[in-house]
Amino acid sequence: MTCWLSIAVQTPAHSALSGLLTYRSELPLAPGTLVRVPLGKRETLGVVWAVPEEAADGRLELETRPVTSVFDAIAPLNETWRELVSFSARYYQRSIGEVALAALPPQLRELDATQLARRLRRAKPGTADEEDASPPSRAAPLLTPEQAEALRRFESESGPFLLFGATGSGKTEVYLQAVERMLARDPDAQALVMVPEINLTPQLEARFRERFVPRYGEASVVSMHSSMTPPQRLRGWLAAHAGNARIVLGTRMAVFASMPALKLIVVDEEHDPSYKQQEGARYSARDLAVWRARQEGAKVLLGSATPSLESWHHSRDATIHAPGAEGSDDGHARAPRYARLTMPTRVGAQGEAPTRVLLVDMNHQPKKTVFSPPLLQAMAARVQRGEQSLVLLNRRGYAPVLHCADCGWKSECPYCSAYRVFHKIDRTLRCHHCGFTERVPRACPSCGNVDITPLGRGTEQIEEQLAALLQDLRRPDGGPVRIARIDADTTRLKGELEAQLAQVHSGEVDVLVGTQMIAKGHDFRRVTLVAAVSPDSALFSSDFRAPERLFALLLQATGRAGRDAAYLAAQGSASEMWVQTFHPQHPLFAALKKHDYPAFAEQQLAEREAAAMPPFAFQALVRAEARTQEAAQAFLNAASADAQAQEIGGSDMVTRFPAVPMAIQRVANIERAQMLVESGSRAALQRFLSEWQPLLHARRDRSVIRWAVDVDPLAI
Ligand code: ADP
Ligand code: ZN
Ligand code: ZN
Repeated sequence: MTCWLSIAVQTPAHSALSGLLTYRSELPLAPGTLVRVPLGKRETLGVVWAVPEEAADGRLELETRPVTSVFDAIAPLNETWRELVSFSARYYQRSIGEVALAALPPQLRELDATQLARRLRRAKPGTADEEDASPPSRAAPLLTPEQAEALRRFESESGPFLLFGATGSGKTEVYLQAVERMLARDPDAQALVMVPEINLTPQLEARFRERFVPRYGEASVVSMHSSMTPPQRLRGWLAAHAGNARIVLGTRMAVFASMPALKLIVVDEEHDPSYKQQEGARYSARDLAVWRARQEGAKVLLGSATPSLESWHHSRDATIHAPGAEGSDDGHARAPRYARLTMPTRVGAQGEAPTRVLLVDMNHQPKKTVFSPPLLQAMAARVQRGEQSLVLLNRRGYAPVLHCADCGWKSECPYCSAYRVFHKIDRTLRCHHCGFTERVPRACPSCGNVDITPLGRGTEQIEEQLAALLQDLRRPDGGPVRIARIDADTTRLKGELEAQLAQVHSGEVDVLVGTQMIAKGHDFRRVTLVAAVSPDSALFSSDFRAPERLFALLLQATGRAGRDAAYLAAQGSASEMWVQTFHPQHPLFAALKKHDYPAFAEQQLAEREAAAMPPFAFQALVRAEARTQEAAQAFLNAASADAQAQEIGGSDMVTRFPAVPMAIQRVANIERAQMLVESGSRAALQRFLSEWQPLLHARRDRSVIRWAVDVDPLAI
């Protein structure tokens, strides 16, 4: 008997195919079954998506091709997983095939059924008696009252939960115990724990393994992130899919892990922008985690010391937030969507002063001051006491641009509408957008002046200047000051970041200069001073999320200082954060001084609400790339006019702005334009986008290289 199968395969992006193709099979196959099918001249991995009564397009049996082989050693992907994929495809405007195949481990695509069967035999989980020999698990610490209360509410309420906990308040311990209780209660239950960055997974993994491997065995904890080898990823995926892995730890991609008994999802540092995928299906793993948890009947716990304004808004109490909101009363008279669990106190620091925030008014410093004298003195005092300082600057390289004062030449990239950054260390000009690198010219290429000079400052220059300013200083052991730098340039190679962090941990480094990479998650015990040298540009950025990111960065960075409270108490000293600014009166800094995230959030949300921006409105960006800026914009504007003419669904509630060049308009000689689409209604925006897709497809001509929709974009 012949069965028709609708199968999800990886179709080329923008092929106008839904990613579901019809095949036939002599055997009935359940939805979710993994198969290999012919596609053009190749053979490819597919997922049986539906089993229609007859070929959907009325094609004859002869015209459809048969399934090549069936991976029957792997249980079909279950319905909730397929629903997650379908939802993601629909919501983020991609094909089911693309999302489904991207969610599977890459190696699965390469193996045939026999090779896979061999892998599976090898990957059989260890037997129970192996596990009995393991040492007893390390005892969990006694919870602080705040942790106990957070867990009590987590256990008794339904969520979603926002764990608003200061850095060092013991959020990870709450995750560990929430997982522990869930696994103990339900012998099948699985938990998914997500972290934003690969380099944070080893620390978290160590804590989870230490707690759970002794009890549940070596195979019970698996990781999922992009720096694992293909065989490691396949093994982890299979263990989760078979239900043998009780805990999956991973980065954003792990939100698509197949976990048949998923009962709990944790999203650590939920505000982190790296939860948003920036290519292909541009999904937000945090948002999908919340959706998936509801769909699976699992609990979800989002944790942060500086939640995203979206999540904070969802956890706001209607009564606090209602006054003065005339004209938009509908959205306000409601109970909060997320339950907020609050842990304001650092573990072991009860009664101690939090990191003191000091603002240096740069208006009162000589022009071109990089390090104000009081900040330098404070750093010098630290070096002499054997303590460490962190210096934050959000720009790598030596100087953002080289210029000629005679003729005005600047180090533009010939292929991008951006300047190439001067890297003094190897005397190159590097484009951070297309990678184009050249040696610094001996003289100005346009007028021959030999005196071309750097403009502005990057981490390299800050490191160099500090070395000069602090060169006469001695450490307690009599040695010279040691300054190190950590940014994307110093950590390109695998293992470099870990090695550099180890130097900081061991106390070899006195002053660490770096980009936001150094502000996240690392536990630097001897750091007692953090300095933000010039954070002002984020206050007046065209990106409305810039202040939110700056506040999160600075508040997280205050948590990096003074982790060793006992040491500080013995020294009688306190940890400090120094901020050099021309705008010391800015409300962002006022809130920072008081470590008052809620005050900052209320102020920002009021501004966002007044301007009808997210989370009070919903946005999508359509980006187009073409050889010329005119072609890119014309494509977007014409497709927009089509939507207007045809009055497609949702268009009456959706605002489309005219196409504009992107902030970096040209990259690698390709012109880029974008169109912002906005609505007060998420449903209307969704309806509009899905009906607009075919019109965009139809409008595309050969002048357009590619286009893509970004739903809920992070940067505009
Ligand atoms: P967060 O994730 O909120 O930044 P962590 O969970 O990393 O905080 O906790 C900070 C430190 O406090 C860690 O060294 C952790 O081991 C310790 N800690 C957490 N909870 C407790 C507790 N209840 N008793 C003792 N130490 C704890
Ligand atoms: Zn370039
Ligand atoms: Zn010149």
